[in-house]
Amino acid sequence: MSLKGKVALVTGSTSGIGLGIAQALAAAGADVMLNGFGPADAIETERAGIEAKYGVKAGYDGADMSKPDQIAAMVANTAKAMGSVDILVNNAGIQFTADVEDFPNEKWDQIIAINMSAVFHGMKAAIPLMKAKGWGRIINIASAHGLVASAQKVAYVTAKHGVVGMTKVAGIELANAGVTVNAICPGWVLTPLVEKQLQDRATRDGSTVEKETHAFVTEKQPMAKFSTPEQIGGLTVFLCSDAAATITGAPLSIDGGWVAQ
Ligand code: NAD
Repeated sequence: MSLKGKVALVTGSTSGIGLGIAQALAAAGADVMLNGFGPADAIETERAGIEAKYGVKAGYDGADMSKPDQIAAMVANTAKAMGSVDILVNNAGIQFTADVEDFPNEKWDQIIAINMSAVFHGMKAAIPLMKAKGWGRIINIASAHGLVASAQKVAYVTAKHGVVGMTKVAGIELANAGVTVNAICPGWVLTPLVEKQLQDRATRDGSTVEKETHAFVTEKQPMAKFSTPEQIGGLTVFLCSDAAATITGAPLSIDGGWVAQ
């Protein structure tokens, strides 16, 4: 399928799943606007590499997803620099784990802002542009934790359930506007966000990451396998295709059977 002529804005695309999604969209022909944190030279290498490898236009906007005004400006800047925002992938996210009674207020505020409110602000800014063109795809990266809970993840689970909720609302509102809104709910994907959790667990148990990995994955997933950023990218490209034109308001699991249990 070809996304030639479409512009995709992918938040949190300097690493992990977001980078995999940006590469998959570029491979399908879309121009991409990258976003996220990291060393400037590494980001520039990634941006230029996408342009060279896929023959598309790639830009970068360093907006902080915890800041609503920066999110609105990023959407406007993307439309100005690249011509439109046809595909919005709300992917940026962070994690912090602690019991509810010990959960630091500032971590709660930060996770709610980046993992949940940013999705609302991004959709709010992009929807008028998509409606005006009569075509759009919004893909919100939620999680298995948007559908079920785990202990020590109160802010993350709350935020991801919120993302699934707002995906349904926007999907209904835009049902006849040519714009679909869906949530992807991954299980475990081996990215820096999960590597840290694996490392913390190995330290806690006096073990190694290698020894802990199988137990870590199978504690939640019947399938003893990580999903990959490339696979999440593949599902994203599918959701942009004509075959997916009537899929909307849906949380789509890609989780090795996690929420089937
Ligand atoms: P990651 O840490 O590899 O990447 C996170 C990205 O978000 C980075 O590009 C980072 O710079 C960016 N980011 C963080 N804070 C930001 C901010 N304030 N403003 C702008 N960008 C910011 O993590 P990942 O695993 O690739 O996670 C991506 C998304 O996938 C997250 O929403 C996460 O919750 C979700 N997810 C991950 C998994 C998993 O197993 N890794 C599973 C389900 C869902």
